Amino acid sequence: MSDIHVDVAVVGAGPAGVAAGIGAREAGAGRVLVIERDWDLGGILQQCIHPGFGLHTFKEELTGPEYMHRWIERAREAGVEFMTNSMVFGAHPDGSLDVMNPDRGVFRVTSGATVLAMGCRERPLGAINIPGSRPAGIYTAGTAQRFVNMEGYMPGDRAVILGSGDIGLIMARRMIWEGAKVEAVFEIMPWAGGLRRNIAQCLDDYGIPFYLNHSVVRVHGHDRLEGVTVVELDSDRRPVPGSERFVPCDTMLLAVGLIPENELSRMAGAEIHPVTGGPILNELYQTTRPSIFAAGNVVIVYDLADWVSQEGVAAGRNAALYAAGALPEPARRLAIRGGKNVRLFSPHYVTGGADATVYFRVTRPIEKRCRVFADHGLYERRERYARPGEMNEVRLAREALAALPDDVTEIVVDAEEV
Ligand SMILES: Cc1cc2nc3c(=O)[nH]c(=O)nc-3n(C[C@H](O)[C@H](O)[C@H](O)COP(=O)(O)OP(=O)(O)OC[C@H]3O[C@@H](n4cnc5c(N)ncnc54)[C@H](O)[C@@H]3O)c2cc1C
Repeated sequence: MSDIHVDVAVVGAGPAGVAAGIGAREAGAGRVLVIERDWDLGGILQQCIHPGFGLHTFKEELTGPEYMHRWIERAREAGVEFMTNSMVFGAHPDGSLDVMNPDRGVFRVTSGATVLAMGCRERPLGAINIPGSRPAGIYTAGTAQRFVNMEGYMPGDRAVILGSGDIGLIMARRMIWEGAKVEAVFEIMPWAGGLRRNIAQCLDDYGIPFYLNHSVVRVHGHDRLEGVTVVELDSDRRPVPGSERFVPCDTMLLAVGLIPENELSRMAGAEIHPVTGGPILNELYQTTRPSIFAAGNVVIVYDLADWVSQEGVAAGRNAALYAAGALPEPARRLAIRGGKNVRLFSPHYVTGGADATVYFRVTRPIEKRCRVFADHGLYERRERYARPGEMNEVRLAREALAALPDDVTEIVVDAEEV
């Protein structure tokens, strides 16, 4: 089967990929192709049938499918081509892609520039080492969400949720709505992993107990889960003697973290950041392979789809400019560094040639007034709080970056109590 050549190729048709397609077309790219392994467009948002999407973009509260419908319509109007049921199984340093689908078999897509938008996957049970048997009834929260919302299956009748990531919180409420009992949500850290609004709307409103500093230390059951042993943890995250208790349940849902889906990024030779697990980018969303760009949860796990779409548009626009030979050459390389309370952030460096937004998450919550800043006087904002579950940002203006003395090579971003 012959190869396909396009101006901009995009991998993944979630919020990031669909928006990247739009950004590329709006920036003048001729042929823009979005390749998606699923048979439908929309990415993870297809199964997110709860409201809470689009508050920033559309000033309305939409469900995930409604939110994506609007973006997909806009992409179609912009002339973006979609190829579904098509798995990208190889990526090369020049951005060309190996693809397979039932109609064409195996073929290659070459392009002037490529945008990686493969999203992320959930950490499974194997990644968290809980002793005990491996009975049926243990699922990641996202898998359970797909079962309930798309396939029409209930994973069980009596559930515990391990981890307080947003998907777990949303699934706790969903299980209640479908008639199950949710015993509790257990979180190993002293603070919640998900958004405050999800704690209120998904747990508090339904009287679901939420235990911080708790973890599951044993799984019971042979064929089917029969219960879990839960323990309280001290400030060093060691079990508090005598705090062990058995919680009967037939289902455990895991919401213990998301990992950017980066096999293709690695294959293409894009440098991966050891902390985020996503590709190292500059503010133009360009990886260390210049013709390869990346956006969305494949880069860093975002809290809101609105930011993902916004970043996708920008990545697509820059990819189109690169393909046309119109993307400015980097003026310099200024490394971004996280301060005392910041480990996860992106981009990892800026070129000084454009305005930049650095997204980050604080490691520890600040519940009092705080200062969100970038050093060298580049940015400062006051906030009422900063929490690990919510993405934060600093904006760096091109003019301010250009005015930095030549010996400045690093910019620190952080949030601190004031
Ligand atoms: C359960 C859940 C609840 C959420 N709730 C909210 C909320 O209430 N409000 C909100 O604003 N945000 C919410 N979010 C966050 C938001 O949905 C995500 O941040 C956003 O979907 C990420 O978009 P993405 O395009 O990066 O990834 P995804 O949506 O995951 O899309 C990635 C796409 O790439 C495709 N793909 C991957 N690998 C390949 C390959 N090799 N070949 C071809 N295609 C490939 C996948 O099939 C997928 O379609 C929620 C997320 C989850 C998981």
